[in-house]
Amino acid sequence: MKVLVINCGSSSLKYQLIDSDSERVLAVGICERIGQDVSHLKHTPEGQSKIVIETTEMKNHEVAIEMVLHALTDEKHGVIKSLDEIGAIGHRVVHGGEKFACSTIINDEVIAALEECSELAPLHNPANLIGIHACEKLMPGKPQVGVFDTAFHQTMPPKAYLYGIPHEYYKKYKIRKYGFHGTSHSFVSKETAQFCGLDINNSKIIVCHLGNGCSISAVLNGKSIDTSMGFTPLAGLVMGTRCGDIDPSIIEFMAKKEGKTLDQVMNVLNKESGLQGMSEVSSDFRDLNDAVDEGNELATIAFQVFCYNVAKYIGGYVAAMNGVDAIAFTAGVGENDWRVREWVCEYLGYLGVKIDLELNNTKSKLLMLTGPECKTKVCIVPTNEELAISRETVELLK
Ligand code: ADP
Repeated sequence: MKVLVINCGSSSLKYQLIDSDSERVLAVGICERIGQDVSHLKHTPEGQSKIVIETTEMKNHEVAIEMVLHALTDEKHGVIKSLDEIGAIGHRVVHGGEKFACSTIINDEVIAALEECSELAPLHNPANLIGIHACEKLMPGKPQVGVFDTAFHQTMPPKAYLYGIPHEYYKKYKIRKYGFHGTSHSFVSKETAQFCGLDINNSKIIVCHLGNGCSISAVLNGKSIDTSMGFTPLAGLVMGTRCGDIDPSIIEFMAKKEGKTLDQVMNVLNKESGLQGMSEVSSDFRDLNDAVDEGNELATIAFQVFCYNVAKYIGGYVAAMNGVDAIAFTAGVGENDWRVREWVCEYLGYLGVKIDLELNNTKSKLLMLTGPECKTKVCIVPTNEELAISRETVELLK
């Protein structure tokens, strides 16, 4: 079956057409600046170079999806003859609240439940819903599946997901830890078990998803029992531009001192903080590495803060699971940044971890960094959220 995987952001739309039998990516692309004066569609058919279409017509996500469908069936750079070849559509949905503990076939009831969850992810869920409605309009009756970022973490016990605030706020508003990047944590934990020769049903795995957004999860016997992001993706680790865990009183203090509204302070914490804010250099680890090499002090400290926090979360999850069999690094930073892995692993001597520094410095994808003598294995395991969504979609429609 060919599965169209769609990931709608507020002003962008990423897509992949995946042949689920061979797991080949037939086409991949992105619509950027949807709703702005000039938008782009970047489309790369398998084995061909990227084409870029500039347009003033991409007024909304529906038009964007229409353009994607045209590109997929285009005579020159298309990869299918007709839309009938698409068997199903898999949507990445950011927030499933407490309602969705696994992926689900989308119907009217599910759409209503998603609308309810929108309050919990006001920037993301409305865009996801627009994508779902647009697909239904353009390909009526085609099965659609929602795969939630939060679903994998619904196995967390109350002691992990409840905050130290009056219980009435959980009862009234469902204020609790949800966790995100669940599709990645689920995919990578399974791949890690397989790569390390572990029985997933009898395993203790820590997944470090380090990208622009960063989160760590503790996966016990294949189930998430804790994760670093919280009620929103702002919590946990210091990230590219997000602050991660801070004392909540800072918000009031900053607002008063700077004469900012709550929205303005939240904007600082979401978009101007993290490594970007701390280093005053960049949120991108490639730039940060250059700055560290040049001896930039703020960049070096920001880098240290990042790695120290990752190591502390790992330590916390070793305690939560009473041990760890494997630690996996994944996503843009986790897969590519040797320095982050080296500096984090320097804290893990108590686990007997000793990584091969030369191997760690090579450009390779799936890679074991520890030798057979290490009881706790450390590895690089590439994530692939689109493939995970395609697999889930096919599984549900079986
Ligand atoms: P997103 O959260 O947007 O999915 P990714 O997982 O793609 O993010 O990670 C993007 C980040 O990965 C970039 O901002 C950059 O910091 C980092 N990155 C990508 N390539 C490299 C590299 N070769 N070395 C170090 N960091 C890298």
